[in-house]
Amino acid sequence: MTKRNWFFSLEVFPPKVDSPLRTIYKALNELKEINPDFISVTYGAGGSLVNNKTAEISSLLKNVYKIESLAHLTCISSKKEDIDKITEKLSSEGIKNILALRGDDNGIQRNDFNYASDLNEYIKNKDKFNIISACYPEGHIENRDLDLEIENMKRKINNGTTSFISQLFFDNDIYYKFLDKARSSGINVPIQARIMPVINKKQIERITTLCGATIPPKLSKILNRYEHNKEALRDAGIAYAVDQIIDLISTGVDGIHLYTMNNPYVANKINDSIKLVLKAINNEYKNY
Ligand code: FAD
Repeated sequence: MTKRNWFFSLEVFPPKVDSPLRTIYKALNELKEINPDFISVTYGAGGSLVNNKTAEISSLLKNVYKIESLAHLTCISSKKEDIDKITEKLSSEGIKNILALRGDDNGIQRNDFNYASDLNEYIKNKDKFNIISACYPEGHIENRDLDLEIENMKRKINNGTTSFISQLFFDNDIYYKFLDKARSSGINVPIQARIMPVINKKQIERITTLCGATIPPKLSKILNRYEHNKEALRDAGIAYAVDQIIDLISTGVDGIHLYTMNNPYVANKINDSIKLVLKAINNEYKNY
């Protein structure tokens, strides 16, 4: 991911442990038509290497679909030898990009890593990977203090992070304040904005409870009004995400990372609505 500094990327999750890999093929076939700069693949916190399909899907994307892939990797329950095994597998498949994460602390037994920055340092010493990290525009759920978040971002950069992908957010003004703070604190690496289209009220309430993202009044009205009308909520959620993305691109953010929920219909609708805006921004960056 070194060709330039502006990215439009997608995020998918692997099928459940007891579902075969092929259950994601249809989604990937349709998502690849969007021609994103890369697709990231999530990783189950505490998931065992044997059951984890992140490496397989990242390899499929890279080697079969010929799309750059970014493998998420959590460390909360890992021993160094687990990380050795998975990074050797990723490297043997030609995967160069890792999103180095701690994983949520659900009382999972810790092993050799306390924080994501420890994982960064360990992977950095392997000298084989481009390390990307998570950042939190509203602070992390365990600690909402943005000063501590900025300190943690700096720690991650010192330990090898070359760019960030943010936690999802629904209020662009919160994101802009966070960006201002990061930049004025001397953080100059690219930060991509993670956008999640809202298509289900219960799902979004569960996710925001876990990650602490604020639901602004405008989105709350949409959720309440269309919660029992699946299609209407989906259309309104797509429109809300498009509105957020256009505003972010026009304001000059470093990139958009779209959480697809493995739903190509939604991702394609969003892509169709922003195609020419993406083309314009890509042309701008080409001319730098
Ligand atoms: P850390 O950076 O380690 O931070 C965790 C907490 O510890 C924070 O409160 C931080 O302030 C604090 N902290 C960090 N370092 C120190 C220190 N030295 N001293 C004291 N406190 C410290 N989860 C998954 O399970 N799978 C995924 O695929 C996945 N993908 C994600 C993708 C993105 C873009 C994002 C934003 C999150 C993702 N998550 C995923 C969720 C993530 O694992 C959780 O948010 C997790 O709780 C924190 O991960 P982290 O890497 O940011 O941790």
